[in-house]
Amino acid sequence: MSEHLLEVRGIDAYYGPIQALREVSLHVDKGEIVTLIGANGAGKTTLLNTLFGNPRALVGHILFRGEEITRLPTYQIAKRGLALVPEGRHIFPGMTVEENLVMGTIPVGMEHADEDRQAMFELFPRLEERRDQRAGTLSGGEQQMLAIARALMARPEMILLDEPSLGLAPLVVKRIFEVLREIAGLGKTIFLVEQNANHALKLADRGYVLVNGVIELQGSGKELLGNPQVRQAYLGGH
Ligand code: ATP
Repeated sequence: MSEHLLEVRGIDAYYGPIQALREVSLHVDKGEIVTLIGANGAGKTTLLNTLFGNPRALVGHILFRGEEITRLPTYQIAKRGLALVPEGRHIFPGMTVEENLVMGTIPVGMEHADEDRQAMFELFPRLEERRDQRAGTLSGGEQQMLAIARALMARPEMILLDEPSLGLAPLVVKRIFEVLREIAGLGKTIFLVEQNANHALKLADRGYVLVNGVIELQGSGKELLGNPQVRQAYLGGH
């Protein structure tokens, strides 16, 4: 049995004939913040989507809490305690902030909805101020906060985020990374996919570097921040 909360063992993923992931192995332990960094098109989004079964890993195994989830339907994976905050947020623009939060309870049911919504408003006071506003009219940063809060409404053990800082102003990015630390403080395990390597590696306990579908490097956040190869490729050579 796997000791890790999430364990990915040697997965390959394809889009038709194009191979997007090659023998990718990684793990995330309970309570960790782990990041996956890589350039545009490296396969970061594909890896997250493969964890949720779309595309399916054709080779290899994905285990969550020691249990094989490789071939489960997506909703079953969500029910087991994994929640994805997708790239581009994918909130429901015509629904209010509050309605979006309720949608987040789908994998687990409404039993704790009131209590959890209150907890989200404490974590994100800005969302409480805007609870009746249509989500499509929120700023980019507020939409990202809403996407994170909606994922948390499913009471996941582990939250996976796809480039939450994308397209946001520096101050908002700073706030997003602070929020991720607060969420980790609530006992959630975090797997963060980012192009913003500097912020991500400063936040993370450990990191992986994906290049053309292959994990090329791994180490503690600190080690990777100091790695000349990483500095050259992802930190502007500084
Ligand atoms: P980005 O930061 O730009 O989102 P990424 O690291 O997340 O990049 P992916 O989106 O996973 O990269 O893409 C990995 C490779 O798979 C790319 O070559 C991409 O063109 C290809 N790809 C992604 N989605 C599809 C798809 N639906 N059909 C065919 N090829 C795809």
